[in-house]
Amino acid sequence: MDMKALETISYGMYIVSTKNDNKNYGCVINTLTQVTASNVLVSITLNKENATNQALRESKKCAVSILSEQATSELIAKFGYFSSVDTDKFQGINIKDSDGISVVTEGACGYLVGEVVNIVSCDTHDIFILRVTKAEQLTEEKPMTYRYYHEVLKGKASSKAPTYQEETVSGGKKYRCTVCGYIYDDEKETIKFEDLPDDWKCPRCGVGKDKFVEVN
Ligand code: FE
Repeated sequence: MDMKALETISYGMYIVSTKNDNKNYGCVINTLTQVTASNVLVSITLNKENATNQALRESKKCAVSILSEQATSELIAKFGYFSSVDTDKFQGINIKDSDGISVVTEGACGYLVGEVVNIVSCDTHDIFILRVTKAEQLTEEKPMTYRYYHEVLKGKASSKAPTYQEETVSGGKKYRCTVCGYIYDDEKETIKFEDLPDDWKCPRCGVGKDKFVEVN
């Protein structure tokens, strides 16, 4: 199977947020699709191991922020590579309340709020069907596509995303970020990993050098 063909499928970039037991949960997804038009239903796909999935099963209500090209890689890394269980992803970013849900407005050109009407189990992931109860456009900025995220922000799918593909490593000295999987390849860089300054950060998720391990 030519996995390259799958990379040509178009997606957007979104942050799903929900509140359960008075705690905020949120994660990045690239899988939102409008299902029906008149009585608006959308579908989103979440990994079964994701804390946001478990929270949404119980809260049955969430917001989906539509990220624009203004969204930073730090924002996407925060919601994409860390767990809501041990990280307060909502700390220090712009949010607004909508019926008790913290909607991420930072880097977003709009958002939807919806109620879960159906959950379809698909192997590692669940498709949540949402009935949209509220929608608001926030800015005129262009929505970010998954391709833009890859090509301009140099982003990569989290290991829990349905579109995740493992990076292959061959020859030379390479280092892998244990948080996001980013590979630093000495052969392709002008500075060797060992010579990078101590405050150097992973270009994809923002963690320090200490989170990198050498891979062969
Ligand atoms: Fe990283």
